[in-house]
Amino acid sequence: MNHCCDRMTDALKFTCKKCKDPFECPDSILHYTETRAYGLIVHDGGRSFLAIKHCPWCGKKLKKNKTREITRGDRVTGKLGMKEYSVRATKKIEQPIPGDPHHIHRVELALVFDFSTHTTFWLPVEDLEIKDED
Ligand SMILES: [Zn+2]
Ligand SMILES: [Zn+2]
Repeated sequence: MNHCCDRMTDALKFTCKKCKDPFECPDSILHYTETRAYGLIVHDGGRSFLAIKHCPWCGKKLKKNKTREITRGDRVTGKLGMKEYSVRATKKIEQPIPGDPHHIHRVELALVFDFSTHTTFWLPVEDLEIKDED
């Protein structure tokens, strides 16, 4: 998983030897949610965090279209943002890396419908961006 920058990645990789839960650790500051959003941990004894739209380290805008998983019905664009597709299904497959049969790489694929050619085919989810309504 690639986060905004090295400093953000380091903050998310940080694990404390004393605390089991990052929400309990005063040294833990950033939370990455299951819906791929970022938040600053509020150390109030609970599990609250403050959602952020910019990286606290480098100030870059955090990508909005990566804040949730691609699901059926989404309008998406390809890697270069040229073509628009509609997602029909998604699946995760295990792909062996050539020359290293024990190293299994998990890839998520989306079955997309191409409006211009009226065909469906599988594309890696990591190459797709959700087209936002606004
Ligand atoms: Zn700690
Ligand atoms: Zn950053």
